[in-house]
Amino acid sequence: MIFCAFFEVFKVDDPKIDRKNFLKKGPILLFRAFLEGSREESIEESLNFKRDPPADDIPLLRPPGAVPEAQFLDLCEGAGACAEACPADAILLLPRKENSDLDAPIIQPSISACVICDDLSCMKACPSGALKLVPKESIRIGIAKIDPDECLAWTNMDDTCNYCVEKCPIGEMAIRIESKGESKGPVMGKECVGCGLCEYHCPSFPEAVRVFELTTG
Ligand code: SF4
Ligand code: SF4
Repeated sequence: MIFCAFFEVFKVDDPKIDRKNFLKKGPILLFRAFLEGSREESIEESLNFKRDPPADDIPLLRPPGAVPEAQFLDLCEGAGACAEACPADAILLLPRKENSDLDAPIIQPSISACVICDDLSCMKACPSGALKLVPKESIRIGIAKIDPDECLAWTNMDDTCNYCVEKCPIGEMAIRIESKGESKGPVMGKECVGCGLCEYHCPSFPEAVRVFELTTG
C-alpha cells in the first residue's frame, strides 16, 4: 500500500523503478522529488542548492568528456550548464573537496546514472572546455567493478537476476553473464564506459556493481 501511495503522490511512471528497486531507491526518490519540486520553482536555485561535498569514499566521477582532473578543476567554472542540459538529471553540482567557493559537477550512479543520451548534451553545453565532445564509444566516466559477494546471482540468492546486463547500453562487450561451477553471474568486458546504469539498477544493497574512478585500483 505504501508502495502504491508513493507512486500516486509522486506520479512515478518510470519503468526503471520497479518493486524490486523500491525499498532501495525509495528514500533517494523522495530526495529527488524534493529537488525536482525546487527545480520547478527555480532551476537556478536548485542548481546552486548547497549540499555536502562528496565523502572521500565516493568515487569522483566527472561527466562524460571530462579532461584530466587537475585540468578539469582549472577550467570548470561550476556554473552547471552541463547539469542543466542533461536530460537524465544525472549530473549533480556539489562543492569541491578542496577549499573553494566553486561547485563542480559529479555523477553518483546510485542516485542517477548517465544514459549516454543521443545528443551528448553535457559536453556540448560546457562553455569552458572542461568537458570536451567525444564520441559515445570513447566516453570513460569510470569503470564498473563487480563484487561477487554482494551479487544476488553469484551468491545464488537469485540466479535469475541480470539487471546490470539488461540495462547496459553497451552490451556484452561491457558486461555479460558467465557460468563458473554451480553459479553464474555478471563479469566485466573491456568496453565499459562507466555510465553507471548497472549500478543504478542493481537491486542489491550495497550495490554489487559500482563504478569507480579510472585511476583507482
Ligand atoms: S551524456 Fe547525456 S545523459 Fe550522460 S551525463 Fe551527458 S547529458 Fe547526461
Ligand atoms: S557495465 Fe555498467 S557502467 Fe559499464 S557501460 Fe555497462 S551499464 Fe555502463
